[in-house]
Amino acid sequence: MVGLIPIPPFVPRENVRPVVSVSGGKDSTATYLLCLEQTGGDFDAVFADTGNEHPYTYEYVARLHERTGGPKVQVVKADFSRELARKKAYLESGRATARTERPWTEERVHEVLAMGFEPTRIPFLDLCRSKGLFPSRMRAFCSQFLKRVVLLEQAHQPLIDAGYNVVSWQGIRAEESRKRSCYPMWEILPESESVTVYRPLMGWTVEDVAAMHKRHSVPLNPLYSMGFSRVGCMPCIQSNKQDIRLMALLCPEHVKKVREWEMLVRSVARQGVSTFFHQSTTGSDAPVRIDEVVRWSMTRRGTSSGRQFDLLALAEPPTSEVCVYAGGLCE
Ligand code: SF4
Repeated sequence: MVGLIPIPPFVPRENVRPVVSVSGGKDSTATYLLCLEQTGGDFDAVFADTGNEHPYTYEYVARLHERTGGPKVQVVKADFSRELARKKAYLESGRATARTERPWTEERVHEVLAMGFEPTRIPFLDLCRSKGLFPSRMRAFCSQFLKRVVLLEQAHQPLIDAGYNVVSWQGIRAEESRKRSCYPMWEILPESESVTVYRPLMGWTVEDVAAMHKRHSVPLNPLYSMGFSRVGCMPCIQSNKQDIRLMALLCPEHVKKVREWEMLVRSVARQGVSTFFHQSTTGSDAPVRIDEVVRWSMTRRGTSSGRQFDLLALAEPPTSEVCVYAGGLCE
């Protein structure tokens, strides 16, 4: 185990099923590889598709089994048809205008009902349409409804119904953030005592994660070599300035997508206002639409004062070498 913190071997037991949550990122891939080593491949792997991923991530997840000899990653996906139908029924019932706190106007109810509530089957978008707003750092309901609940309902519950206890392997490392450093390595899931969360990478460094990839000759998700600091939604509501700038420069189709989504979510919001990124992203005191956020990402200075346009940012998109090496993920 050169370069890796030894992990006590996972002892397979009858009626205990390991299930690895795969996101396409480096930590969950390392977790998949560790589980492969410890179980010989007798485990399940699952990917919760938010509908807001980069094509490289879909491809990376779909090919993981070919590259490793491990199990194929099952894809699960939330469906918000019921929530959308419920919202429509609520608006039609007149209760929205009758409520005492933050009532809707009649005019707005008519406008929103005219937009229709047909599901798009894009989980991220339908979730936001059903709520009439985008998630934010303070209210990150996206991870709750697009990942946690879906994994439990669609991946874990069928195993529980078949008589298994589930051990849910999650690729979280303490050094990622102060919050994450407080997570225990083992934890019973509050929603189901038949699911135990296992975080075997808690003590790992990014070098350990890279060493695990190298040992299995598994490349990283190409998004890292494009310079992105993290792999998750494209974009994630928590994206940093550098990642937003990279998205605008290298994946403009995702900016276009967010522009369209902002329009669709605004069209069903009570006050007709909602933006993908919270205003705190740019330090603004008013909501900022995606084009404004992109403009801010091209400025040189930090959060609130980014007024000076950074020509270098446009002229020199980062190359794979610069970013991967800077992240310490490659040799
Ligand atoms: S990656 Fe970001 S945007 Fe996507 S579900 Fe997680 S917190 Fe939300």
